[in-house]
Amino acid sequence: MNLKRQDLLRTSAFIAGEWIKTPKTFKVTNPSTGEVVAEVSDCGEDETRKAVERASEALSGWSSRTAKERSDILRRWYELIMDYQDDLGLILTLEQGKPLEEAKGEIAYGASFIEWFSEEARRIYGDTIPGHQSDKRIITLRQPIGVCAAITPWNFPNAMIARKAGPALAAGCTMVVKPAESTPLSALAMAYLAEEAGVPPGVLSILPASEPAKVGRVLTSHPLVRKLSFTGSTAVGKELMRQSAETVKKLSLELGGNAPFIVFEDADIDQAVEGAIASKYRNSGQTCVCANRIFVQSKIAGEFTEKLIEATNSLKVGDGLQQGVEIGPLINQEAVDSINELMRDAESKGGTIYQSPEGKGLSGNFYVPTVIKNATTEMKLHGEEIFGPVSPVYQFETEEEVIELANDTPYGLACYFYGSDHAQIWRVAEGLEYGIVGVNTGLISTPVAPFGGVKESGFGREGSRYGIEEYTELKYICWDIGE
Ligand code: ADP
Repeated sequence: MNLKRQDLLRTSAFIAGEWIKTPKTFKVTNPSTGEVVAEVSDCGEDETRKAVERASEALSGWSSRTAKERSDILRRWYELIMDYQDDLGLILTLEQGKPLEEAKGEIAYGASFIEWFSEEARRIYGDTIPGHQSDKRIITLRQPIGVCAAITPWNFPNAMIARKAGPALAAGCTMVVKPAESTPLSALAMAYLAEEAGVPPGVLSILPASEPAKVGRVLTSHPLVRKLSFTGSTAVGKELMRQSAETVKKLSLELGGNAPFIVFEDADIDQAVEGAIASKYRNSGQTCVCANRIFVQSKIAGEFTEKLIEATNSLKVGDGLQQGVEIGPLINQEAVDSINELMRDAESKGGTIYQSPEGKGLSGNFYVPTVIKNATTEMKLHGEEIFGPVSPVYQFETEEEVIELANDTPYGLACYFYGSDHAQIWRVAEGLEYGIVGVNTGLISTPVAPFGGVKESGFGREGSRYGIEEYTELKYICWDIGE
């Protein structure tokens, strides 16, 4: 791997400030070529318990530092990540597959959370509340929760950790992270730079593991872990929630989505097509906020769909390291198989399929960008997250109908719509049961806003001033001044 700083490629687990080689290892492969990128230490129960205990020991030292000291260290971490953005981007592309420019974009996006929370570290305020009796004074404090655990997915191997570790460390918590088994290298490289930035031993540990359930079990059952933040599938999130009930852990769950993308007839069609492409095909369609169902008002459905097909056909598919590639491979063969299954089902139920000639002939984990015309609610993809570069287009007639269709899912993460009638924009934004609404935009992710879902998409918010509250407990002091 051609890195400016070769030492950023770490293969040992990072536990309490030490780089630990475990007897067992597992392979990390490049989803584009199938080649082995590295063999990484494989953590189990013992390593997890050790990381949790060390995180607990490190807690009082870290939380008693001044907010400015923590802020300065996080700021340094942010700067180091940006200094080595190219190297971190390359590591990310090699283990995850996304195009290099997009990978570098993720590094900057992840770093922006660490920057944001380095600033928020100094603004964790409490209140003074007028007392309920003349001799009572009431004060609130926000204190760090304690040891936190994070379990993160492979689709954003850097940013999903940054969004959790940034606020946790800023608030004075310590954190044990279990990255996804396909993408541990980005996590380890981040931790290496955290160490260099001055994050003390035990404050951040990274446990790569090929058997996530083993590590997960310890994290969810250990009494010293006070909070778990999870991003991943709804099924695993529910299981972790069940497991965490035993020790009543605080949870943040960022689970699956089924994002509707609605285009009203008075929308700017070109802008809507551009937004649909940006939302749908980012990370080859493998994000929980990707447009999953595109609803177009019937009067403009023909024009919109033609333009969408044309724009989809122009996307360049290939290895993420190739210049100009916009669509990389899917993460693995199972991902390809599951989309093929959804496509067979859609076709058997009347969907017309348009696949981009670009990328035909690519094998392995690549999936050709696709548009499906005449999508219906009977199709499996209406209820399931596609997680690939496939755009199903539905037609609708009225606002009421489309709000009902859009809300016809247990999920509620992101939704998008395009239109120009201000009254309608308010009505629709209020009527959609989602945590995030994009109006005339397909891109909604930023560290300054609260990212998170409702319904079975989970709860808790990442980013913004609300993001740090997730890592604090609210305590109130009732003080009798004795008059
Ligand atoms: P995806 O479908 O995106 O891979 P998963 O929910 O399977 O989503 O994975 C997200 C994260 O959850 C990964 O870090 C994975 O290793 C972890 N994970 C999967 N199964 C379990 C489990 N039973 N217990 C704990 N963590 C798990």
